[in-house]
Amino acid sequence: MIRINENYLKLASSYLFSDIAKRVSAFQEANPSREVIRLGIGDVTLPLSPSVIRAFHEGVDEMAQKSTFKGYGPEQGYEFLRNAIAENDFAGCDIKPSEVFVSDGSKCDTGNIQELFSNQLKIGVPDPVYPVYVDTNVMAGRTGNFINGRYEGLYYLESTESNGFIPTPPDHDLDLIYLCFPNNPTGATATREQLAAWVEYARTHKALILFDAAYVAFIRDPNLPKSIFEIPGAKEVALEFRSYSKTAGFTGTRCAYTVIPDECRVYDENGNAHKLNQFWNRRHTTKFNGVSYPVQKAAASIYTEEGAREVKTLVDYYLVNAKLIRESLTAVGYSCTGGDNSPYIWVKSSRPSWDFFDYLLNNAGIVCTPGAGFGRCGEGYIRISAFNSLENVKKAMERFPKE
Ligand code: PLP
Repeated sequence: MIRINENYLKLASSYLFSDIAKRVSAFQEANPSREVIRLGIGDVTLPLSPSVIRAFHEGVDEMAQKSTFKGYGPEQGYEFLRNAIAENDFAGCDIKPSEVFVSDGSKCDTGNIQELFSNQLKIGVPDPVYPVYVDTNVMAGRTGNFINGRYEGLYYLESTESNGFIPTPPDHDLDLIYLCFPNNPTGATATREQLAAWVEYARTHKALILFDAAYVAFIRDPNLPKSIFEIPGAKEVALEFRSYSKTAGFTGTRCAYTVIPDECRVYDENGNAHKLNQFWNRRHTTKFNGVSYPVQKAAASIYTEEGAREVKTLVDYYLVNAKLIRESLTAVGYSCTGGDNSPYIWVKSSRPSWDFFDYLLNNAGIVCTPGAGFGRCGEGYIRISAFNSLENVKKAMERFPKE
């Protein structure tokens, strides 16, 4: 008899995006003449930039010639891309190409990494949370059951108004800690001091921080850290996920990478330290066969002067939208977080999240994402996304009801 992995039965069904879709289509059916503006999107809307497209084409053309054709590439990524990443993305952090693992997405990387760790871990996850962190640990059997909206075996790092949406380290032991800055969904960004507190905690507790920097390209404040490796001592206790999805519009093209410094340690049951990098290398080379050559060529193009300028222009476009959203909503009485160094604006409402969602849809034809869908601490909030056209954002802001 083929038996299911029982942990899959513990997964709480996520109705968030299907519920949103149902409510939007019911509204459109009932109001066919009303225009709906979708500000719930977590996907980019602008096309790939010219340098990326040119490099992509060149890569495809090389695949068409016997002399330049490529079969399997190195699983960890081509040297040209790993070198460019190490040289450009971690200025001052001294990251080596051998510490970079190119992949087809941070979703896969954040999900796959937990396979390297024991099942007896105390795990800290943000609330509200990017759901992949939680669900992949449920699948692995680390969380216990879902009771009253939370998994009994997880520790929830609450991001609330009172801590400025940046959780502080707890006063007890955690072994594995998920952090995401700039944050999805709150848009909050951590300061150097806030990250340093986590690094110190991880060093004291011999814990590991999984630092998700998928939205790093949106950081414009020069005082904010872009990488956790900017914090002294972080290399022993942290790894970092980066993605080209939001940085360069690669959500449909697929390319990302994970950095695991040589110093980063993991322990066996006797307390002996081992290099984490070697285990991820083993896992990656066993279960993954590399990102396609044209895609890696396309990704590498953003490290040229022209390519860098173009992708900055893409992100700047969304940041203009984000600023407009934040300022417009603040002006009509809402309390907002994010939107300055992030594409997401986390908006507080006097109504429950789903009531606010319905109210916005019915009164303004605007679609948002109810915060409650990201965890208990998201109740009473909605997430507004800047991934849309400036024209649509302007229209939506004109229609947005006062608090
Ligand atoms: N991490 C966070 C916090 C995200 O919001 C997303 C995508 O929405 C990802 C990772 C996934 O990135 P990728 O497209 O590289 O899989």
